[in-house]
Order: sequence, then C-alpha cells, then structure tokens
Amino acid sequence: MTLTSPAAFSDHPTAQASGLVDPFGRHVTYLRVSVTDRCDFRCVYCMSEHMSFLPRKDLLTLEELDRLCSAFVVKGVKKLRITGGEPLVRKNIISLFRSLSRHLETGRLEELTLTTNGSQLEKYAGDLKAAGVRRINVSIDTLDAQKFRTITRWGDLSIVLKGVEAATRAGIGVKINAVALKGVNEDEIDDLIRFAHGAGHDLTLIETMPLGDIEGDRTDQYLPLSVVRARLLDRWTLEDIPFRTGGPARYVRVKETGGRLGFITPMTHNFCESCNRVRVTCTGTLYMCLGQEDAADLRAPLRESPDNGLLFEAIDAAIARKPKGHDFIIDRRHQRPAVARHMSVTGG
Ligand code: SAM
Ligand code: SF4
Repeated sequence: MTLTSPAAFSDHPTAQASGLVDPFGRHVTYLRVSVTDRCDFRCVYCMSEHMSFLPRKDLLTLEELDRLCSAFVVKGVKKLRITGGEPLVRKNIISLFRSLSRHLETGRLEELTLTTNGSQLEKYAGDLKAAGVRRINVSIDTLDAQKFRTITRWGDLSIVLKGVEAATRAGIGVKINAVALKGVNEDEIDDLIRFAHGAGHDLTLIETMPLGDIEGDRTDQYLPLSVVRARLLDRWTLEDIPFRTGGPARYVRVKETGGRLGFITPMTHNFCESCNRVRVTCTGTLYMCLGQEDAADLRAPLRESPDNGLLFEAIDAAIARKPKGHDFIIDRRHQRPAVARHMSVTGG
C-alpha cells in the first residue's frame, strides 16, 4: 500500500491537532470506520436476508481508508475501531491494519481495534496481533448452535468459537458483545456471563436499535436492558465500577465471577452527553451521530486533491455540526426505522 507520510499530514496548516471539539464541548477522540457493508452473516436484527450491497466502485480503496483514518488521527483521534459489515471479509484488510499500526508506533494513536463476527478470526488472529491490535469485540448472541444459525441465518457457532480461541492464544483480549433479544436469548444471559467470564472475557449486552429495514417487526425483538439488569439482580451481585473503554458501555463487576459486564443502552438511557464518537462509512460518508441522518461527504474532498487541506476542512465543518443527541423509539406506533441506513452501513 502506498502511504502518505504522517509528516505530510501534520505539516498542513489546517491540521493543527488542537483536537476535534464539537459545539457542546465534547472532544471527538474515537472514530469507527466501516470498511465494507458486506457480510457473511445475515443477523436478523441487522440485515434483511436479501440485502443489496453497494457497487464496489463506490467503496473507498484501502489506500483512501488509510488516508482518511490518518487525517482523523492527526486531528486528535486516539482510538480507531475498524468495523462493517464484516471487516474481515474485505480483501487485503490486514494490509490496512498493518499500515495504520504506524500511528500506534508514533504514539499518536492509543488503540487500533476491531468489531467482528469472528467467522474469519481463526485465520487472521496472528496477523491482527502483529499489527498491534490488543483487544477486539466479537459478537456472539447465543451459545446454542441452532439458535446461532437462526439469529445469524448463515453463521456457524463452532467456527466463531475457534476464532475466539485463536485470538486469545494470540494474546488479543476479547470482549463478547451480545444483542439482547426478546424471546430469543433472554433466558441465556446467565450462560453468556458464565461462558465469557469463565474464559476471561468481558461481556457487553446491547439493546437493539431501530436502524434500517429488516423485513421484520422490531417490537418483537426489543428487550430493554433495564429489565435484563433487574432480573440479573435475582441471581448475581452487580457492583458498579468506574471502568470505561472509551465507548458507550457502562460496566459492573459480577461479584460471583469477578468478570466485567457492560450495558450499552441507547434506548433506555440516553448516552449522548458523553459521546466522543463519529463514524465513517465504507463510501467515506461521515455520520456525526448514529441516530441522526445528517452526514458529510469526505470522499469528494479525498479524491479532489492529494493534498489534505480540503479533507481537513470538511472534517472540521462536520464536527461543528455534531448534534446534541438522538432519540430512538421502538413501539407499535413507530413501525419505520428511526434511521433508514443499516448498522452494517454506518458501522456498529
Ligand atoms: N459484523 C461485525 C459484528 O457483527 O460484530 C461488525 C459489524 S456489526 C454491525 C457491529 C455490532 O452491531 C454487532 O455487535 C451487532 O450485534 C450490532 N448490531 C447490528 N445491528 C444492530 C441493531 N439494529 N441494534 C443494535 N445492535 C446492532
Ligand atoms: Fe453481519 Fe455483524 Fe450485521 Fe451480523 S451484525 S449481519 S455479522 S454486520
């Protein structure tokens, strides 16, 4: 991959790394980048079975993704999460990790990480570790192989579990993410806690968000984590802890296992006040909020000039418009998704 030298970035007059600060005084230090909208699974809450994907020509090349991420790093982003779609199905994706790892070496970037469904992890765990990835999130909603197939439509739990083992062997910390689904895995939360904590992994529970059309009724899936948490208290001792990973999860320690349990509650608790994140899609569209439609095109300034001036200006202008927050609602009166784009487009 041809790389733009970090010096070429930081020397630019508009690149001064005083940081990205939005109108509400929040520092944007965390960028999530979706490198593909494609996936080898079709999770029921995320995609419809017959998704149409973007034409490949619309996607940013790996070189463009590197340039874009590097521009954000120069602007003060400290944590970079590569996501998708399924990031590990993008051809040559490891070369992007390798090239971005130079920012870890300079100390500008504190963390390079990834959210994955785990299907390709067995193959890539060693390469990811070599590129400086120290922690990853792996999505596992159930430990029942049949149910896993039903939720993901195309996934194989045993392959994902082998991937988690390979990552652990490679020395990568694994956090398990599970979306709480009414009537699907709500009876399995205890097992997920025992499994994750027993193997030394953190576990984070996520509420379903109304993103994109899924050929189904989201009121059937939505399970408030306030309900899950109240039920857990019958069997577990949950101790609030100040632990944070720079993301939206709030953590407790489960006294009986000693492990950490996170809750991501975009629906029941508005987590916007401390939002430090923005997201870029695989076509270079910057979304300042997961739950709002406003966006900025970064592909045009990227392609317009090899100099990064236009790109930096577009990033600054977008951050100046970052909204205060979102307001998701899932109920029978709100049948349309709150936001038309799927999570696999914006990057979860
Ligand atoms: N394919 C990778 C994976 O599944 O981990 C990365 C992308 S996926 C969009 C990132 C995370 O978003 C996953 O943990 C997934 O469970 C979650 N997710 C997808 N659609 C969601 C929705 N509508 N509400 C809440 N979480 C969602
Ligand atoms: Fe694919 Fe991840 Fe969406 Fe599941 S949640 S369909 S694995 S992008």
